[in-house]
Amino acid sequence: MKLTCLTAKYGMATEVSGHAKTCCLANQQFVDSSGNPMTFDAHGPEEIWKSDHRRKILSDLENGIQHPNCTVCWQEEAVGRPSKRLRETEYWEKYETQITDITGPETPFYLDLKLGNTCNLRCRTCNSVNSSSWMTEEYEVEHANTNLTKKQFLSRFDIIKNSYSEENEELWETLEEWIPKSKKIDFYGGEPFLIEKPWKLLHKCVETGVSKEQSLHCNTNTTIIPSKEQEQVIVNFKEVDLSLSIDGIGSAFEYMRYPAKWNEVLSNIDYFFDLKRKHDNINITFCYTISIMNIHHIVEFDEFVRSRYGEDVSIWYNMLFWPIKQKITNIPEPLKVLLANKITEYISKQSKGNTYLYDNLRSVVGLLYIEKPDETKIQEFFKYTDKYDAHRNQKFANYFPDWFAELERYR
Ligand code: SF4
Repeated sequence: MKLTCLTAKYGMATEVSGHAKTCCLANQQFVDSSGNPMTFDAHGPEEIWKSDHRRKILSDLENGIQHPNCTVCWQEEAVGRPSKRLRETEYWEKYETQITDITGPETPFYLDLKLGNTCNLRCRTCNSVNSSSWMTEEYEVEHANTNLTKKQFLSRFDIIKNSYSEENEELWETLEEWIPKSKKIDFYGGEPFLIEKPWKLLHKCVETGVSKEQSLHCNTNTTIIPSKEQEQVIVNFKEVDLSLSIDGIGSAFEYMRYPAKWNEVLSNIDYFFDLKRKHDNINITFCYTISIMNIHHIVEFDEFVRSRYGEDVSIWYNMLFWPIKQKITNIPEPLKVLLANKITEYISKQSKGNTYLYDNLRSVVGLLYIEKPDETKIQEFFKYTDKYDAHRNQKFANYFPDWFAELERYR
């Protein structure tokens, strides 16, 4: 049986680190024929798109081989959750009669763009590769007492800087050619509203009118209101999905997405819903990234969001796969039972006839069990949390007291 993935066939994802993959969930970064990583500071996007590594993944999927690049999809499908591969098939199927080559079109129809790590937050599940704001804190906590100087530490990020600098003409010129030909663009950060250059390329799509045939998806940390130019882009694409990354409510949110302020974010959410009311091309989704820290809080979050924005509001529970020490599969088995009961009891109480609205939340229970817990990881989780709590003068116990009391028994 073929395991064709149209996301991989039509798309390419760039990573903040300067690498590229078939999609954002893929396990493997493209490498050259000698096995060396292909990063944008040294390789053009076109060379990567036509690489043997990419072709091999696509041909394996076509031949029904569960390629290790795609473990995340195989795991989600094994618990009956619609994987990215399955979710996006319908979108791309319409091009299948035109594009018969299994390696896809000449240039990607689907661009998943992470073009730098500029960000104003230091979220608990993030790191210095993905957020520029993390760099100093990570150095102070992990390396300040070692022989590594700050300058040496910062040089680790040279590939990111060189890959996405304005001087990397090959990258930006190729994107200028690719973006107007693409059908769907996903734009992430860092924080996308703080990364200027791609908005200029998107704006060209508006000026030439091609944006009226294109879809745009943008994940924001919801602390930034788009500029007037960015807003012009948003309201002029054919369809726009704005995904608001919110990993908790109230103080739990502030702990997870440090140093964001909940009240400011609430007012920004109102701005986005207001924009949606005025422009029917816009959809809004809440995206809750589930980690060991905030999984117990998921019910309170779901209840709050549905009571404030409507029971049928779109919420996506995004499984965190990395870092492994924060992955929910590493929760001790007895606590997985407690969580499963909490979630299923909530759903049965809430959903009076609208059970489909809770399908995504329900599937979180399955995700708990896709792997057995690795006991060493939960200890790593404690150590890591303690270290950054001390540095930030915070205490996990104060923000998630009930969950902390349960977890603490396994320390
Ligand atoms: S099968 Fe899944 S992980 Fe692999 S490329 Fe497709 S969507 Fe990405």
